[in-house]
Formats: sequence, C-alpha cells, structure tokens
Amino acid sequence: MGESINDKAGIEDLDICRPCGGKCCKSYPGPATPDDFGAPDKERMYNELYSALKSGKWTIDWIDQEQEYYFIRPAVKGFESSVFDHRYMGECTFLTPTGCALSFNKRPESCRMLVPKINEKCDPQGYTRAYVVKTWQPYIDVLIKAATDVEKVDIDFNW
Ligand code: SF4
Ligand code: SF4
Repeated sequence: MGESINDKAGIEDLDICRPCGGKCCKSYPGPATPDDFGAPDKERMYNELYSALKSGKWTIDWIDQEQEYYFIRPAVKGFESSVFDHRYMGECTFLTPTGCALSFNKRPESCRMLVPKINEKCDPQGYTRAYVVKTWQPYIDVLIKAATDVEKVDIDFNW
C-alpha cells in the first residue's frame, strides 16, 4: 500500500493494479499539474515543459482554446511528437506490458492520486480535466511559451 490518500505524493497499490493491467492508462493519459513541472518556479517550469514537449512524449491538451483552458499530459500512443493534441481517448505512451515506464514520483499528479479499487470504479479524487485546467491558469503564459518555442524550433528545423 502507498502513502495516505491525502498526501500529494499519491497512492500506489500494485496488488490491485497489476492484475488490472492499467485500464486507466489504456483509456486516457493522466493530466499533469504545474507542481509536476516545478511550480511555482516559472524558469524551472519553462525548462521542464520545454524538454518534455521536445521529447514528443508529452502534449498540450485543452477543454476550451478560446478561454486558454490548457493543460499538459503524456501523449497517446501512435500520436507522439504533437505539441498540441485533443483526442479524448487512447493509451498512454508510457504504458508498457509491465506497467508505467515512469518512476512513481515522475508520474502526473492525477495518475498518482487515482485510488485503485476492487470491483468498483477507481477514485480520481476530483482530478478531472476541469480541475487540472484550473491549476494551470496562473501558469498559462509559461505553458504556451514552452509549446510555441518547441513548435518554432521544429518548424525551423524542418524548413
Ligand atoms: S488505478 Fe484502477 S484502472 Fe488504473 S491500473 Fe489501478 S486498478 Fe486498474
Ligand atoms: S503516465 Fe503512467 S500511470 Fe499515468 S497514464 Fe501514463 S502509463 Fe498510466
């Protein structure tokens, strides 16, 4: 059993998740929060966001572009290397046959906070897209700057 569910480090219960095989990760990658990228230090955030997006393994998603309701999440398998992506379903790029490729503390906060359950729906503890989008609002400038800089370099490189 992992840490308490109130601990931001999250909870892991391999006795439940191993036999399940990652149904959550097969349906949609877990959204990440600013804390996962070094908030509130914006310089550190920019660097971490830039290298994550540059790797092609992470992408910016949104619930409303006009209102700049964006967040970052791992890419969906087969759709890596898109700086922006808005599909609603698909298997997380980090899922392997033996579980998540990321060490527990490197996983998105919403993955760490998902409480595994037997014979009932696992509990996301309120980590919806709408909630995660709210956490990004104070950092939208740094999120979009990292994304546009990665796109700019990609365009220059491919020109
Ligand atoms: S959190 Fe739930 S859906 Fe995800 S692997 Fe564990 S038991 Fe399966
Ligand atoms: S990052 Fe890991 S735990 Fe989160 S959805 Fe992807 S494979 Fe699953």
